[in-house]
Amino acid sequence: MEVNANIGLTFDVDWAPDWAIALCVDLCASAGVPATFFVTHSCDILADLRRAPDRTELGLHPNFLPGSSHGATPEAVLEHCLALLPEARSMRTHSLVQSTPLLGMVADHTPIDVDVSLFLPFHRFLHATALPVGRSGRMIRRLPYLWEDDIAAGWPGWDWETGGVPTDGGLCILAFHPIHVALNTASLDRYDALKDSLGGRGLASLTEAEAARFHRPGFGVRGFLERLLADIPGHRFSTIAGLAGGAS
Ligand SMILES: [Zn+2]
Repeated sequence: MEVNANIGLTFDVDWAPDWAIALCVDLCASAGVPATFFVTHSCDILADLRRAPDRTELGLHPNFLPGSSHGATPEAVLEHCLALLPEARSMRTHSLVQSTPLLGMVADHTPIDVDVSLFLPFHRFLHATALPVGRSGRMIRRLPYLWEDDIAAGWPGWDWETGGVPTDGGLCILAFHPIHVALNTASLDRYDALKDSLGGRGLASLTEAEAARFHRPGFGVRGFLERLLADIPGHRFSTIAGLAGGAS
């Protein structure tokens, strides 16, 4: 039986350098697989990402945490992110900050209609839900996701070489971070050491040469992503917009 697209590769950009984002774009493009990037900041590669909206969906990755570079209030954060990506219709909040009032604000003041901030690790048979929120009562569709690279890095018993996710029933949305793909992260100690090495510099300024000494050989996030792309037929993958449109 033919299985429809139910798998979504998403990338939380998290202020990664352009070369790390480009690596993720290239891996997906080489496999002919669409992907969704939740963008955090203005960067040169945005123009390239915008050229193929059917293959590369761009969504917001608003940071509502205290001290956010996106703004001091939730309103300011959303305004900042929408100025960056006015075409965005989906989002995942940084660090999964969420509340009913926050979703209401999104419904009332933005064109976002899909949220991917619900994390249900390794759950099967997931499907989209929709709820009316805010004064407008506008429906926000919520697509849960079931795997995240930095969480897998600390998940008891997770094996990068053999570990899998349930792809046979319901939505299967995975969250990667370009920096973890670039480093081929397996546990977070190398990433933490890399952050310490920056001495307060922004991650976006990290060069490929500087990152090289923190690169993990063997199996890690990149190897897992490559394994997914090699093992699963391309037609099973879709952008978040595609999954939201097709899921019930
Ligand atoms: Zn994030």
